[in-house]
Amino acid sequence: MADGAGYAPAAFGPVAAATAAPQHCTNCATPLAGRYCHACGQDTVPAETALRSWRDYVARLGRTLRALVFQPGELTAQQLYGGRVRYVAPFTLYLNLVAVFFLLSGLADFHVWSVVDRVDWLQDLIEKRAQARDLSEALFLERVDRRFQAVYTLSLSVISVLGYAGVARFVFRNRWHDWRGPVTFALHFMAFVFVVFMPGTMVLVRLSALQVISDATASALSILLALILGAYLTLAVRRLFGDPWPWALAKGVGILVAGFPINTVMYDVAVLATLWIA
Ligand SMILES: [Zn+2]
Repeated sequence: MADGAGYAPAAFGPVAAATAAPQHCTNCATPLAGRYCHACGQDTVPAETALRSWRDYVARLGRTLRALVFQPGELTAQQLYGGRVRYVAPFTLYLNLVAVFFLLSGLADFHVWSVVDRVDWLQDLIEKRAQARDLSEALFLERVDRRFQAVYTLSLSVISVLGYAGVARFVFRNRWHDWRGPVTFALHFMAFVFVVFMPGTMVLVRLSALQVISDATASALSILLALILGAYLTLAVRRLFGDPWPWALAKGVGILVAGFPINTVMYDVAVLATLWIA
């Protein structure tokens, strides 16, 4: 491998200092034949201390995000049938995007909780739980707000992937015969949701709260966001399976529509769980 020759081991601690060029993998002791161990895959250059690894990672992340946003279905196709090393792995990508979204939404003082409609039974429950905790409703809701993001991140973000994977398993049952395809598809779709739909929704909620845009405009734009999701799924089906447009559209919209109630139920479960532990 061309990379191997250029790397003189720097003095990272006593092990590296003691051996000029490692002959065996320090992880599994397999004799080395290049920079990467062919048995376990460990890099002989510690990633976090090599600038080159960072540059590689940033390039891979940029390539991954471009494909995710502008080439629906491409990452799923590459992950299943093509080049995996060039892109950030689906689950890593998704969890990192969820984490970044909640970090930014915290900075932007946006609370997912604030989007929840205060239906009557929910209002009753909030009052009851606040009384049980001996807190004012405002104080209790503040507590709910802080915990909701943890519950959401841990449960809902993972559960919605399972929901969409189940729908995709059904819709593509003649194309994919195990869970690898549907789960990859769902992870990439939800990654797109957290890059485009969730930030878009966040901006809309803020703008309409500040009365920069009217409620009617806000609703129209949120319908547009949903349409973008439908178009995204349709294009992904086209790229993955080459279905004719009407079929691709039916499948794309079908996945979105079937996934919606699943997500809504999961959302309510997350809200109830939060109210219970807060
Ligand atoms: Zn090894």
